[in-house]
Amino acid sequence: MAAAPSQQQASASPLPPQKPPLAARPPQAQHRGPAQAQAAAPCIFCKIASGQSKSYRVYEDASFVAILDAFPVTEGHILLIPKMHYKTFFDMDDPELAAAFATTRKLAAVLRKALGADSFNIATAPSAIDHFHIHLMPRYDYDLMGPLADLDNKREMSADRMAGIQKKILAFLGGGGAAPDAAGSAKAKV
Ligand SMILES: [Zn+2]
Repeated sequence: MAAAPSQQQASASPLPPQKPPLAARPPQAQHRGPAQAQAAAPCIFCKIASGQSKSYRVYEDASFVAILDAFPVTEGHILLIPKMHYKTFFDMDDPELAAAFATTRKLAAVLRKALGADSFNIATAPSAIDHFHIHLMPRYDYDLMGPLADLDNKREMSADRMAGIQKKILAFLGGGGAAPDAAGSAKAKV
């Protein structure tokens, strides 16, 4: 067998040098660090991830937290937030992004059981908050919205209702062991 043509070309290539491999490129997200490292101007999601700001937290693991959106489009609208301050998903490496969507799917499965969600919208969207997050919006056959929920159609729910939704979700995630509260201290794993 002859050597692969590409190898022969590479040894006497008239082509300009190729881009260096990924590992040799300067990192684009050098500011990657724990949320606490953003001390100069911590964004609200960094504060929520570190527990400094209140939220209706429904999930936490080593890399992500999930909270109820304060202005939900549908009941059980969740934001999955990386603990690291990534501006967009372009700043995340493939395994991190894969983990984000795998976690989103786990949470969707919980919303199906806990709230009777019929389907889901999963979205990223322009936001005033410069910290990447995934919207997981449960959809219900009765919600009478089109195929895509309208993120401009947000509404405020009462604290009682938000806490009730949080409690239902935590009951499935935490096996009943996690005490729901609005202070962002409830933790649960799937
Ligand atoms: Zn942040």
